Amino acid sequence: MAVPTGNTVLANRPITRRGLHDMCRLQFERAARVTGLDSAIERILDNTTNEIVVHFPVQMDDGQIEIFTGYRVQHNDVLGPFKGGLRFHPAVDLDEVKALATWMTWKSAIVDIPFGGAKGGIQMDPALYSRRELERITRRFSFALNGNIGPEYDIPAPDVNTNTQVMAWILDTYLTIMPPLERNRSLHVVTGKPLEAGGSVGRDKATGQGVVYCIERWMADRGIPLHGATFAVQGYGNVGSWAARLLEELGATLVAVEDQGGAIAADRIDSKDLLSHVRACGTVAEYPAADAVSHEEFFSTRASVFVPAALEEQITEETAPLLSVDLVAEGANGPTTPEGDRILLAKGIDIIPDILCNAGGVIVSYFEWLQNKHSQSWELDEVDRKLRCKLLHGYERVEEAKRMYGVDPRTAALIVALKRLETLYKQRGIFP
Ligand code: NAD
Repeated sequence: MAVPTGNTVLANRPITRRGLHDMCRLQFERAARVTGLDSAIERILDNTTNEIVVHFPVQMDDGQIEIFTGYRVQHNDVLGPFKGGLRFHPAVDLDEVKALATWMTWKSAIVDIPFGGAKGGIQMDPALYSRRELERITRRFSFALNGNIGPEYDIPAPDVNTNTQVMAWILDTYLTIMPPLERNRSLHVVTGKPLEAGGSVGRDKATGQGVVYCIERWMADRGIPLHGATFAVQGYGNVGSWAARLLEELGATLVAVEDQGGAIAADRIDSKDLLSHVRACGTVAEYPAADAVSHEEFFSTRASVFVPAALEEQITEETAPLLSVDLVAEGANGPTTPEGDRILLAKGIDIIPDILCNAGGVIVSYFEWLQNKHSQSWELDEVDRKLRCKLLHGYERVEEAKRMYGVDPRTAALIVALKRLETLYKQRGIFP
């Protein structure tokens, strides 16, 4: 992840805003139609359960008071406690958080973990604040959310511009305001914590690792060796940089990278060396062992696999025609617009959709939550083995739905989720 140290390079391109929740609903409506989802259940799932907006004051280092707006949207908890990341970004708003919370519900249902869907964040650019200001902002947000999050109710995790440190501040704030008897049994109020604070081994790399397990499986199914394959990554934070390092370990070659500060390309980019550069400079731009390229050149780079691992709505009617890859493995949430989807399908570019491909993060968050509940700590081998097993079961369910309904991968993934939720709603009924 881009560690919020205050030195991140600011966006050099405007961010497209076009109703992310509308895009999420379009995907949902299509899958609901194909699968003949019960109309009452469709109406339930089309709505969020709670939308929490908090405005809170924080004192800055210069003594001035700034007012921040934070969000937590809880989409659905029929499968288990609400679960989802917290994002610090200027584009965070209710529309975005609603879509991201809804996708979390689908994700947990596909990979069969007992969590519902939630998401949250603060509308701000963390690069503009000192570390001490970020700590005060995070703690004050946690305090404002108090009662709306909890270890058995709603469990945040890291997302764009938040990290293990941010989770540690939330944990500490939450525990401090708990009655003493509750404290030691509330460690699982957040996941993605530092190891020393009750985090799980393997959580940091989990989303990238999951992306790589999916790519490996896709290649193996087609008899294509990953060794010798090439790939491009958009976003070199937590998800993008882990996916790149793990793919490189399997013999694939990184040929292009873009982040908030610019884009680079070369015949071979050393993923670990690039990460050292990003840690020092805050961006991939000006990495000396690659050429600077334009946004369009980055999207046009020939590669076997493209891993979007930045923000939503990146593969669009403008960029999808440029892509020259065999597979898009969606590390980011919502990176492809409906127009982008149509173009990729028409070009014969396959997609492993976000709600399957990046579910590794929530799976290992679930493992962290379980370890905290039972005062256990698992070994990395165990975490990786169980992650692979859960994720690939989800992968197989999506493949089966593709065959059974004759639909595109995204719709198939959604069908798997909707079927599971529909069955549960029918078993439990609607109170009263
Ligand atoms: P991060 O903050 O660690 O990294 C984000 C990266 O995106 C940075 O390299 C940043 O420079 C880049 N970026 C931002 N704006 C960009 C732009 N306009 N163009 C190109 N690059 C841009 O975030 P992350 O945790 O790696 O999350 C990335 C994506 O993966 C998000 O969509 C997030 O919701 C999703 N995701 C994350 C996790 C997780 O465990 N962290 C889990 C599932 C999904």
